[in-house]
This record gives sequence, structure tokens and C-alpha cells, in this order.
Amino acid sequence: LENIMNILVVEDEPKIGEYLKKGLTESGYIVTLATNGIDGRFYILSHEFDLIILDIMLPGINGWQLLEEIRNINIQVPVMFLTAKDGVGDRVKGLESGADDYLSKPFAFTELLARIKNLLRRSKDNHIEEVISISDLIINIKSRTVKRSGKKLHLTPKEYLLLELLARRHGEVLPRSLIASLVWDMNFDSDTNVIDVAIRRLRAKVDDDYQIKLIHTIRGMGYKLEGAGDEE
Ligand code: CA
Repeated sequence: LENIMNILVVEDEPKIGEYLKKGLTESGYIVTLATNGIDGRFYILSHEFDLIILDIMLPGINGWQLLEEIRNINIQVPVMFLTAKDGVGDRVKGLESGADDYLSKPFAFTELLARIKNLLRRSKDNHIEEVISISDLIINIKSRTVKRSGKKLHLTPKEYLLLELLARRHGEVLPRSLIASLVWDMNFDSDTNVIDVAIRRLRAKVDDDYQIKLIHTIRGMGYKLEGAGDEE
């Protein structure tokens, strides 16, 4: 029974709410549906959830406000924004405001499920400690400090964000376009030279002095961070 996960869905569109409730219940989750921000807040304050799927445009209080409130009182449950607002600015705003993921409507249910599993797994990992360690690289998420082989690395805020993104998804190739949208709030067609430059600077700090290189260029695809133990 320990694997049963409680999910709160805050969604005012009845069709989508019911669809989510039915689909997630059939997938083995216990689902609570709130149809406005006020009810959502009530449930969050009175129950323990493993994950919250949060619409942004909601009656009562909207998703941004609700997320801000729950982060302010230090409720660390993973939150996925689910919304029709799919502009890059909104996505970045969502992630910066403390959402853990962001999915635009319309979405494929299989993709939603995959992301839910990923978030639940990550949150389980994060429960133990709020650090990411890959080989001798240690990132402390709370204090935003980075060490390699015990030596503190001095990163700019953007370099830190870039490294944290790569580290959170280590072993995975991240396309420049994704990095651009998540770290720089730039759209797909922007000149991505800025990313290559930032990667070069980050490498100088993270990899140059060390024999084992962690940041890898995947030609024509993007970048990935991989430690010695990551290969499958
Ligand atoms: Ca809505």
C-alpha cells in the first residue's frame, strides 16, 4: 500500500477535471478534484498529497497565487502546472515560481502519466536530501552552492541555473531550444549562440581542471551532463 499516491487536481473545466480524475484513478492513483482555487487551497492545507496538478486560470484564486501561498508556508509537494497558457514566458514563470513541471493543453494522457511518474520519483529522491551529486560534483539546491571534488565553484546565477537543469536531468540530452526556453526565456528560433557561450564558460569552471569531464556536447542535438556512473 505504500505505493499508493494521492494526487490533487485543481481544474475548473469540468470535462478536463473529470477526464483527469478518471484516467488517473484508472492508472492507480487516488485522485481528489477541486474545481476552484479556494477549494484547492482548503484541500492542500488539510490533506497530504504526493503531487498537485494545478490549472492556472481558476476562479477564486488562480494557480500562480495558490502556488505562491503553498511555497510560502513551505509545503514542498511537487506541483505540475497544466494550462492553456503555453507561451514560453508563462512556462518560465511557472518554473521560476516553484512549479516542478509545466504541461500545456491539449496534452496526451500518456505524456501526463510519464511526467507524473518522473515527478513522483524525483520527489522521492529529493526527500532524502536536497542535493544532487553526480560523480564528484555536488549541487546543494537549497543554498545554490556547487562543489567539485570538495572545491567550491563560483558560478553566475545563469550558470548555476544551467548546471542545475543539466544535473536534474543528467544522462539526458537537452536540446539547445529547451535550455534556451528554460534558462533564458528565449524562444525556439532565437540565436542560441548564447547557450554555447554559456556552456563554454560553465565548462571552464566545472570541467577544465578535472580529468573526468561531466558536460558533454552531443553533436547536432544538444548537451548533457553525465557522470562516470550514468552510462547504461
Ligand atoms: Ca481554467
